[in-house]
Amino acid sequence: MQDCIFCKIVRKEIPSKAAYEDELVYAFHDINPVAPTHILIVPKRHIVGVQTLEREDESIVGHMFYVARKIGEELGHAPDEYLKGGYRLVFNVGKDAGQSVFHLHLHFIAGRRMEWPPG
Ligand code: 5GP
Ligand code: ZN
Repeated sequence: MQDCIFCKIVRKEIPSKAAYEDELVYAFHDINPVAPTHILIVPKRHIVGVQTLEREDESIVGHMFYVARKIGEELGHAPDEYLKGGYRLVFNVGKDAGQSVFHLHLHFIAGRRMEWPPG
């Protein structure tokens, strides 16, 4: 997608601070973090969001969660055996749910105590 901001970030046309990269996904730090650690995990292939997922996208979504686990371990946010630590994974789906960029992304948010319900 020519004009998609996350496609431009994936292509490195817009700079970003990398957290993880492989052939399928790129993960980078959010420009406007809502917690001490706030990373966006995005597929390199343009997908609008959960609202347009096809059967063929199932594996990439599973991979995004696996990458989240790896990032959690690497950055020391994996919950320990006493359930301390941890992180929140979020997909905002549609404008009313808070989606502002229409290229699928999984928010990885950590480093502070989370509230429930979310705002
Ligand atoms: P959404 O609101 O769609 O769930 O999440 C989009 C996220 O992308 C927001 O948290 C926003 O701060 C982040 N974002 C938007 N533009 C950029 C950018 O150019 N660079 C980076 N690193 N993050 C961005
Ligand atoms: Zn895109």
